[in-house]
Amino acid sequence: MRTTLIAANWKMNLGTPSAAVEFVGRTRHPLSEIEGVEVVICPPFTALAAVEETLRGTRLRVGAKNAHSQAKGAFTGDVSAPMLAGLCTHVILGHSERRAGGSLDETDEAIRRKVEAALANGLVPILCVGENLTQNEAGETSTIVGGQVRTALADLSAEQTRGCVIAYEPIWAIGTGKAATPADANLTVALAIRGTLAEQFDEPTAQSVRVLYGGSVTVENIADFMAMPDLDGALVGGASLKDDFPELVRRAANAKSG
Ligand code: PEP
Repeated sequence: MRTTLIAANWKMNLGTPSAAVEFVGRTRHPLSEIEGVEVVICPPFTALAAVEETLRGTRLRVGAKNAHSQAKGAFTGDVSAPMLAGLCTHVILGHSERRAGGSLDETDEAIRRKVEAALANGLVPILCVGENLTQNEAGETSTIVGGQVRTALADLSAEQTRGCVIAYEPIWAIGTGKAATPADANLTVALAIRGTLAEQFDEPTAQSVRVLYGGSVTVENIADFMAMPDLDGALVGGASLKDDFPELVRRAANAKSG
């Protein structure tokens, strides 16, 4: 059984403690009442402590959006996994906005080291993978996505891999209002992600890792994604900053239980 997971990627928004607490203070009660779904709120680093304190004692979890692979050292401006361990339970890694070709320059290899550091410090990595539009149009989606999964998890055991969450996020769908079709997303997850996990590890591992879809998920389309058997939740950007985010989560839970 794979528990449904909805992760809220606030990106670089609501980053002051007061703005973040105001939002989670308003939404935590409706979110906490929704059964059968795990919710992870990922604010900017500057609001992590305040959000963690506001959500303490609820079923809601907190995540960061990056972690350095080293524990400490001369890495000005970076934050390491041990620094995050007391503040959050999850960490988004390899988001396309940080990967090579995104606004930063993270390689598959760098992301692999970050995944290992997160696991070593008790954090659940939410590993983002996805193809860009050119790769999609060239029919390279499976190769790209499968390769990203394979490299990021290369040195992990099957047991460690089962502790990871993977988010399939086609880059062309992020923040564009043009989501993938649920059927296409499901096919990529089934073939390129679960297929790679089965080859790299084993079929039980492939079937137990939770895989999310991300890219222009909205309150209107979430139920269609959640109707897909290989999609276990969503990584939600823009729509996670809206007042009807609890409604999106409720629809996800209903779609999975129905
Ligand atoms: C994201 O930030 O990972 C994302 C999927 O954004 P959006 O939902 O806004 O497309």
